[in-house]
Amino acid sequence: MEKETENKNNITALSANVERVFSEAYYIGRASTAKGVVASYIPELAKADPTAFGLFMLDNNGNSLCFGDFETRFSIQSICKVVILAAALKYRGFRGTFDHVMMEPSGDAFNSILKLDMRSNLPFNPMINAGAIQTVSLLADLLSFDELVSFARELCHDEGIVLDEAVYKSEFDSGDRNRAIVYLLKSKGVLMADPDKTVDLYFKMCSLSVTARSLASLGLVISNGGIDPVSGMRLIEAEHVRTVKSLMFTCGMYDFSGEFGVRVGVPAKSGVGGGLVCAAPGMGIGLYGPALDPFGNSIAAVKSMEHISEKLGLHVFDY
Ligand code: GLN
Repeated sequence: MEKETENKNNITALSANVERVFSEAYYIGRASTAKGVVASYIPELAKADPTAFGLFMLDNNGNSLCFGDFETRFSIQSICKVVILAAALKYRGFRGTFDHVMMEPSGDAFNSILKLDMRSNLPFNPMINAGAIQTVSLLADLLSFDELVSFARELCHDEGIVLDEAVYKSEFDSGDRNRAIVYLLKSKGVLMADPDKTVDLYFKMCSLSVTARSLASLGLVISNGGIDPVSGMRLIEAEHVRTVKSLMFTCGMYDFSGEFGVRVGVPAKSGVGGGLVCAAPGMGIGLYGPALDPFGNSIAAVKSMEHISEKLGLHVFDY
């Protein structure tokens, strides 16, 4: 059975084909950085090098490939929503989480407030700002920021994850839209902790510093059903990882999630810092390219993943 899976994904040992495809994807990604724009609504993010691009692949046989700026630290931004959801499921359980946030794609921009006020009291899903802020409110009185950082370090196999103070300050100073969201949730009577404490914890989680390598490790744990293939330890319960993967697939790329699902077809989550984590069959892929497309996704990372998925047949619905 194991053999079959390995053969199907063609990654028992890295073939020359896999190496070539990743190398091509790296050049495709790097060439497309010029078409994107670095996020500037959080001023600190505008300092990133728009031409940067890094790619890291880790498979569950211990093989890895790395290219370009794979060790550059950048802020995790919205990818922290995956960590927050995994923590909520772990400490609050499935019902204790989804009694407070829905699981529907919103089809709106990540920071939209529209449908929350027009059509619903609960945020649409934990992968958009309103949903992540609501999910953080389930944890704010239960876990400290340091405990959440430890969980992020464990999932990402990266002890170097720390709070980027400059990004945090910038996020805090420019975070009025997120404050509007948290107070709207409070006004609806659904927020589960103090609004200022909640949004502050959200800002801090967005300001954690990661690398393409740490995102590849995170992707691999998720791809591997919640078990860290290096230590063999279970970090996320199997039933929870299925939920995380489903929401990454349907909602992880903001209002581009549908198209990314069709074109690339792997559970993924992006952040406006330029990061992208992909939980592909048998492998975790972490990418970093701060030049963004109009949806807020890394343009280089998306182009790169389109190539990788097509050439290696990674689409999860190719059965
Ligand atoms: N910190 C950012 C925000 O709240 C995260 C958004 C993102 O990465 N899409 O606006």
